[in-house]
Amino acid sequence: MLGAGHFAEYLVGCPKCSAAMDVVEHGGVNIDRCGNCGGIWLDYLELERLREVPNADQLDLATDVDAGFDEMVYVECPRCFSILDTEELEGPESLRFEVCRTCGGSFFDGGELSKVLKAG
Ligand SMILES: [Zn+2]
Ligand SMILES: [Zn+2]
Repeated sequence: MLGAGHFAEYLVGCPKCSAAMDVVEHGGVNIDRCGNCGGIWLDYLELERLREVPNADQLDLATDVDAGFDEMVYVECPRCFSILDTEELEGPESLRFEVCRTCGGSFFDGGELSKVLKAG
């Protein structure tokens, strides 16, 4: 039987480039990171949990956001296969990331998560 925490335990494909994602544990939070494009998938509430973990921005290995990946549309949720919505982060480091309105997860292109965490 699948328990409430089963999402963290199986590998998903990257919603942007379809490469297999690696589960990376940081401060007790299991995130999925794409070894190809550097994108990071966070399940519901994982972003909030990462904000409490020191140096969580180090999970984000990319420094610059790839415009090609950033501008992709009709990106599918790797968990529930809904089409992801987008959310804008305002401010000096304005950026756009994907959110799933169905399962509550979010996807950050390489280089985005560290900026979101720094923006608080
Ligand atoms: Zn990828
Ligand atoms: Zn979803």
